Amino acid sequence: MKQIALLGATGSIGRSTLDVMARSPQRFTLAVVAARQDDVGMAEICKRFAPARAILVDPEAAARLRARLRDLDIETEVLSGKEALCQAAADAEIDVVVAAIVGAAGLASTMAAVEAGKQVLLANKEALVCAGELLMAAASRSGATLVPLDSEHNAIFQCLPQGHARPPVGVSRLWLTASGGPFRGYSRDALQAVTPEQALKHPNWQMGPKISIDSATLMNKGLEVIEAHHLFGLPGSAIRVLVHPQSTVHSLVEYIDGSFLAQLGSADMRIPIAHALGWPERIESGATSLDLLKLARLDFDEPDLDAFPCLRLAFAALDAGGTAPAILNAANEVAVDGFLNGQLGFLEIAELVNEVLNRVGPSSAHNIDAVLDADRAARDTAEAILKGVTRG
Ligand code: NAD
Ligand code: MG
Repeated sequence: MKQIALLGATGSIGRSTLDVMARSPQRFTLAVVAARQDDVGMAEICKRFAPARAILVDPEAAARLRARLRDLDIETEVLSGKEALCQAAADAEIDVVVAAIVGAAGLASTMAAVEAGKQVLLANKEALVCAGELLMAAASRSGATLVPLDSEHNAIFQCLPQGHARPPVGVSRLWLTASGGPFRGYSRDALQAVTPEQALKHPNWQMGPKISIDSATLMNKGLEVIEAHHLFGLPGSAIRVLVHPQSTVHSLVEYIDGSFLAQLGSADMRIPIAHALGWPERIESGATSLDLLKLARLDFDEPDLDAFPCLRLAFAALDAGGTAPAILNAANEVAVDGFLNGQLGFLEIAELVNEVLNRVGPSSAHNIDAVLDADRAARDTAEAILKGVTRG
């Protein structure tokens, strides 16, 4: 029985993970669940899975959850605060930590799990973007295994030999596929007036709001390029992006002999989640099988960097190195919130990120404090610019 800590349990990845776990109850025990403040969602999870502990970072939400569980006669212990999150991720009883918190908010708990040598199923790409070198170094010190949940990286992981070196031997390039999001084919002009409602409607995937907006701007693919660089140890010049509207080929590995290996499947996050939970064995995911005859064709295209400059900004931040990716990520988190709140237009997301990258110069990302300082400076700068924009 693997003891699982599921961080970000109430979110889209969290729910899909619970769905997969429930299909193999003989393999997994849900020991700990954690989220920010959704006490109603958390109470439902506790009712169904009876975990030993539930953490809500927000203390008032944790108090509401405690009251709900008392009324339901459920014995799950309720904790609150960020410290509890990190302690749970490093707890000796836990075998597997599913890191599915959104944003840099997941960095500390992901790092705690890695330092404690856990098997870490990583959805929280922002943690790797901000502190990739530090996380990978901590993993090699502690012996932690990182299994990617992000569909592209999970696909690449599946296309590499087991126990591959970093960088993998004989690989010339990694090809990350991108659906292109809801605005694929739009010109810059057409993007001027798009609304959060339109941007949240992803054509192929059902996801949380932040990653849905990132998919619409292609920042998601930019973050994934940086994520791939850290996970697989290849430089940005060996990582390419292909727009593939069917979201069927989840990514490809090109070998020096000209072979391409790809992983295909329906667009259902339960597939990479089941792969990572079961790894190195295979377990059921509940996803519908891919109907290749119905699919009939696969299209591939180049991304339009003029209409979607976020992807270019991410490649540039990876090249700049140091804290540049942490600055890019923090500015983007503020910009996405600003767009969702109606403070910024769609095209202004990239403009704000670019402006913050220009104002907050990158420095060396030698320790976690340097990364957190850069994250803070970028957020403060982005918020100050945003206030100016709103006032104007
Ligand atoms: P979501 O918004 O649906 O869920 C986010 C979860 O994180 C919630 O449980 C929330 O309570 C928790 N959370 C947010 N802020 C927190 C904080 N400060 N402290 C503790 N918990 C906090 O997001 P999602 O779509 O499930 O995405 C989660 C992560 O997985 C993101 O990094 C995303 O990029 C990545 N990812 C998601 C998908 C997808 O299909 N949804 C695919 C690939 C990668
Ligand atoms: Mg992805």
